[in-house]
Formats: sequence, C-alpha cells, structure tokens
Amino acid sequence: MERVDCVVVGAGVIGLAVARRLARAGRDVVILEAAEAIGTGTSSRNSEVIHAGLYYPTGSVRARLCVAGRDALYAFCAAHGVAHQRIGKLIVATEEAQLPRLAAIQAQAAANGVNDLRALSAAEAAALEPNLRCVGALLSPSTGIIDSHGLMLALQGDAEDSGAMLALRSPLERGHRTADGFELAVGGAEPVRIACTTLVNAAGLGAWTVARSLEGFPADRIPPRVLAKGNYYALTRGRSPFSRLVYPVPVEGGLGVHLTLDLAGQARFGPDVEWLVPEDYDRIDYAVDPRRAESFYGEVRRYWPGLPDGALVPAYAGVRPKLGGPGQPQADFLILGPEAHGIPGLVTLFGIESPGLTSCLAIADEVAARLA
Ligand SMILES: Cc1cc2nc3c(=O)[nH]c(=O)nc-3n(C[C@H](O)[C@H](O)[C@H](O)COP(=O)(O)OP(=O)(O)OC[C@H]3O[C@@H](n4cnc5c(N)ncnc54)[C@H](O)[C@@H]3O)c2cc1C
Repeated sequence: MERVDCVVVGAGVIGLAVARRLARAGRDVVILEAAEAIGTGTSSRNSEVIHAGLYYPTGSVRARLCVAGRDALYAFCAAHGVAHQRIGKLIVATEEAQLPRLAAIQAQAAANGVNDLRALSAAEAAALEPNLRCVGALLSPSTGIIDSHGLMLALQGDAEDSGAMLALRSPLERGHRTADGFELAVGGAEPVRIACTTLVNAAGLGAWTVARSLEGFPADRIPPRVLAKGNYYALTRGRSPFSRLVYPVPVEGGLGVHLTLDLAGQARFGPDVEWLVPEDYDRIDYAVDPRRAESFYGEVRRYWPGLPDGALVPAYAGVRPKLGGPGQPQADFLILGPEAHGIPGLVTLFGIESPGLTSCLAIADEVAARLA
C-alpha cells in the first residue's frame, strides 16, 4: 500500500491547478489521470477564451471565481510565458429587439465588478470590425484567448517543481474511508492501492462516477448529470474576417454560436448546444456531424453576412458537464467540501463547465480553502 498526503483525481486544467496549489502549500500530492496524457478531456475541447466574467448571476460561485480567476490567469500567463492575447470581444445585437439584452449584460457585468465594458453604436462597431453587421454592440477589452495546453503544461511543471507526482493511465476505480482518510483502488496496467488523508475529485465528466465509487459518499449530494455537446466548425477559406472575438447575445444552454480565434489567427465558430441522451453519457462520440453546419450558416450570417457558402468544415467538439437540462436555469459550479457532505479531507467538483478554464486558479484556491 502506497501512502501519500493528497490525491487529486483528474489531470485536466482543474486537477492540475488544484495539485499545483496544494503542492506549493507544502502538501505531498499525487495526481491520478485515467488517460495516457494530461488534458485530453474538456480542457482541450473548448473555446480557449479567457472570459471577463460578464454574464453570471451576481453572488454566484461562477461570477466570483471567473473575475478572480481571470486576473490570476493573466498574471500567471505573463509570469510563466504561457501564450495568450488580450484581444477583446464584441457582443453584438443583430436586431433592435436585442438591444435591451446588451444593456442587461452591461448592468450584470458591472454588478459582478466588471466595469470596463463599452457600449458601441453600429457605426462604432463597424469602424472596429468592418465585416460586422449589427445594430449595437458591447466591447469587452479584458476578454482574451489562451493556449490551453501551454497553460496545463505550465501548471504541471509548477506542481512537479513543488514535489507533486503525476500518474498517467491510473484510473481511480473505487475508494472507502479509513480512520484517517481514504483507501483508494487504482486500476491500469499495474493496479495499486493508495492511502491518503486528502482527496480531490476533479474528474470532469467522470466526477459523478468517481463520487458514486466512493463508499459512504452521500448519494443525495450527487447532483443530476446532464451532458451537452458543443460542436465547432472551422473557416476553411482565408484568414479570419474579424480581429476580435464576436459573440451574439447568449442563448439557452450556451453563449450562442460565436467566433473565436486561435493564437495563430484562425477563425472557428461554435459551440452549439447538442443535448446528449443519458445512454450516450459513458461512450461519448466527439465526432462532429458535417450536417449540423447547416444551422451555423444562418446563425453566423446574422452578424457576418459575408460568410461564403460551403466555407465551414467540422473542427472538433467538447462536452459540457451540466447540472440541469433544457429549460432549467443555468446551474452554478458545485464545489462540495466537508461542510456539505460531512466527509473530512474530501472536496468534489461537479458541473465545472465554462468558465472553468478561466477560473482554474481561483477554483484551486477555493478547493484549498474548503480543505483548510
Ligand atoms: C464546448 C466548451 C467550450 C468551453 N469554452 C470555455 C472557454 O472558452 N473558456 C473557459 O474558461 N472555459 C470554457 N469551457 C469550460 C472548460 O473547458 C472546463 O471548465 C474545464 O476544461 C474543465 O476542466 P476539468 O479539469 O474539470 O475537466 P477535464 O479537462 O475533462 O479533466 C478531467 C480529467 O479527469 C480524468 N478522469 C476522469 N475519471 C477519472 C478517474 N476515474 N480516474 C482518473 N482520472 C479520471 C479525465 O481523463 C480527464 O483528463 C468550455 C467547455 C466546453 C465543453
């Protein structure tokens, strides 16, 4: 039986940030990752946007951790040479009826402490982005883009420099409580048993399975599991028509089919919202159906009428770990510590969808605080 202080389950951006945080506080940390590499899950299947923190309800965990996480992330990127750009984003109203939504977003952002939004007329927006069609817009100067894999490598490097150890191909299969912590059964080619005093479940889409496999975890503290796929399509021809991110006003379940840019300046559109059925939750198909592009043309042409026919090709997809389905209000991040489930030394995270990438460093601080 191996014995360590802390085990973090999952080497996505959240598990890596938590492991770094705990290791830098002098804790002895092992990260268990089921896959053969770090960051092969949701952390490498997203828009790679550093969100400013505009939309989330005031007082929500997401609002608080997005704003704190964004500032911490920009500082971390600068200090560690992680590629990123503060390129800014336009949120656009494409019809008069949407203008009050822009005003509501600006008010919500201010309530969240984001005071740098600028309301633009159609002419001002067009002066910034000549290919854009809109009746009004908001400019968010503190939105940016980031190399998510570079971020995860930097987090891993920092964690390892502080003594953390990463175990790949090491799925947590089950665990139970002991007098002073947990005993875990880890599968893979060479199964091992590990005893630890602190356990963090940062398994992303697998968080529900991990929680269920922990003997004694109260079933009534495991939230419903709802998964929504988001598909992206890349622009095949030419360079991006825009130099900033362009978002429509948000839709149910997501932020609307937006244009993001990668650090090489390539444009991609997405993600849409495709609710998965529970039978598919444990065998996710990340393939992007070319036929779904049809609905994108209409969505994108609302703000970019110049999108040529046939210009969009399937790129990639990610899956949002949600806590509520269609028609239900957007759920908050759910970070459950001992105060919530009654098990000392355990923190489990559910529903860490967007803006989880932006918030990773603040989430790590939050986990450390719950463990204190
Ligand atoms: C379509 C989409 C777009 C998004 N866009 C943005 C954005 O632009 N900006 C932003 O801030 N956020 C965005 N997000 C959210 C962000 O990507 C996530 O919040 C974040 O990546 C979650 O990271 P994670 O570490 O929790 O999960 P993951 O990256 O999925 O990592 C979980 C890890 O746990 C491992 N695991 C699972 N079960 C086990 C087990 N039993 N044992 C060991 N390991 C296990 C998995 O293999 C995986 O590597 C987006 C999300 C989606 C889906």
